[in-house]
Amino acid sequence: MTTKDKAGCGHDGPALPLGEALDRVLAAVVPVSESERLPIRQALGRVLASDVCSTIDVPGQNNSAMDGYALRSADLPDAAPLKLIGAAFAGQPFASRVGEGECVRIMTGAPVPEGADTVVMQERVSAENDRVQINALPAPGANVRLAGEDIKAGNVALSAGAQLQPAHIGLIASIGVAEVDVLRRPRVAFFSTGDELCEVGTPTQPGQIYDSNRYTLFGMLQRLGTEVVDLGVVRDRPDELEAGFRRAAESADLIVTSGGVSVGEADYVMEIFERLGQIEFWSIAIKPGRPTVFGKLGDALYFGLPGNPVSVMATFYQLARPAILKLSGLGAQVPVLISATSAATINTKAGRTEFLRGVLSLDQQGQYVVSKTGHQGSGILSSMTRANCFIVIPEDAEVIEAGSQVDVQPFEALV
Ligand code: AMP
Ligand code: MG
Repeated sequence: MTTKDKAGCGHDGPALPLGEALDRVLAAVVPVSESERLPIRQALGRVLASDVCSTIDVPGQNNSAMDGYALRSADLPDAAPLKLIGAAFAGQPFASRVGEGECVRIMTGAPVPEGADTVVMQERVSAENDRVQINALPAPGANVRLAGEDIKAGNVALSAGAQLQPAHIGLIASIGVAEVDVLRRPRVAFFSTGDELCEVGTPTQPGQIYDSNRYTLFGMLQRLGTEVVDLGVVRDRPDELEAGFRRAAESADLIVTSGGVSVGEADYVMEIFERLGQIEFWSIAIKPGRPTVFGKLGDALYFGLPGNPVSVMATFYQLARPAILKLSGLGAQVPVLISATSAATINTKAGRTEFLRGVLSLDQQGQYVVSKTGHQGSGILSSMTRANCFIVIPEDAEVIEAGSQVDVQPFEALV
C-alpha cells in the first residue's frame, strides 16, 4: 500500500476510534528514566524519581493545637482549680514538668510539657493570678497533636512517581529536605510545515498566512512541563522535511509537526515520515483532526497533527497530552469530564468523537450548563479563545437535544 492509498483510506475509509487510538499511543510510550537533583522550589511540577523518606517525626513532639492550658488528664475529675506554674510558647518550651494539680499556659504549636497530656482551650477556663479554674472539662488528650501524626520517622513521605504540587514541596520542606531527585523533563521537538507560512513580526507576501500552530503548540508543550525544541517552519519539500525529521529525532523523545498530512498535492509529511520511521496509524474517528498520524522514528514518538489550528489543539489535547504525561513518568490519568446540560440542540454525525468549543457556566440553580461558541470550523482559532471547554460528543450520538446532558472537558483540566 502506498502512502497516498493509505491517506485515501484514512480520509474516506475506516478511521480508528479515538479510544483505540489512545490505547495504542499509550502502549507505545516508555516513560523517561533519567533523573536530576533539584532544589525543591525548582522541582515544582516535576515528577519524583525516587521515594522521599523522612528521618524525623512530624510534628517532632506532642504540641498544642490551641491557645490554652496544658494539664494532666488525671487531675480533670477534680473540680479544684489548678496551679499555674509557667508558660510554653512555640519555639520556647516549658523547661520543667507539670505535677499533680498544676498547669502551664500554652500557645498553639508549643510542645506539651512533660507530665501534661491534655490542653484545655483558654475560652473554657477562668484564670486569676496563678489559679486556673476549668469551666468545661476537655476529654483526656484533647487539643494535643501527637508526635509523628503527620509523618513518622523512617517512613516514606512521598513515593516515586508523585508530581510535585505546592503541597508536596511544602511536605518535603516539613521534613527538612532541601533537594530531591526528579525525572528529567521529556524533550519535545516541533515544527510547522507549509510554503504559505510566514513568521510573526514580518510582513506577509501574497498568499501567505502567519504560522500560529507553533505558538499554540509551544504554549501547550510549555504548560505540560516539557523541554521544547522549536525547529521553526519547514517548507513543503521532501528534502527539507526529511532534514527536519532527522534534526528532530536527534534529541527528542517526541516529535510533533503540524500540517501536510492530508491528501493535497503538497502534503508530503506522511510520505517522508514513512520512509524514515514507522507509522502506527494515520486516521482517527475524531472531528476536528481526522488525518492525524502517529508513529515512531528511532526511539522518538511522532505525532503528525493536521494543519488547521483547531485540529492541532484538539488532537494534541486528546492524544499527545496523555502521551506526554506518561512520558513524564506520571501514572494513569483519570480524564476530567463534567456532565452539563446542553443549552441548545446539537446536530452531529455518528461514527466519530466530536470536540466542539463550548462555554461552561452555572445556571441560577447552580447546575452546569454548556453552549457552543459560534463558528466551529477547524480553522477558527478564536473559537478556542472564546471557549472554556470542549463539548465531547460521543461517537454513537446523532443529536444532543437541548436540555439533555452532555460531557464537557474543561480546558482548566488540560493544562
Ligand atoms: P494542511 O494540512 O497543511 O493542508 O493545512 C491545513 C490548513 O491549515 C491550511 O489552511 C493551512 O494553511 C493551515 N495551516 C497549516 N499550518 C499552519 C500553521 N502553522 N499555522 C496556521 N495555519 C496553518
Ligand atoms: Mg500544508
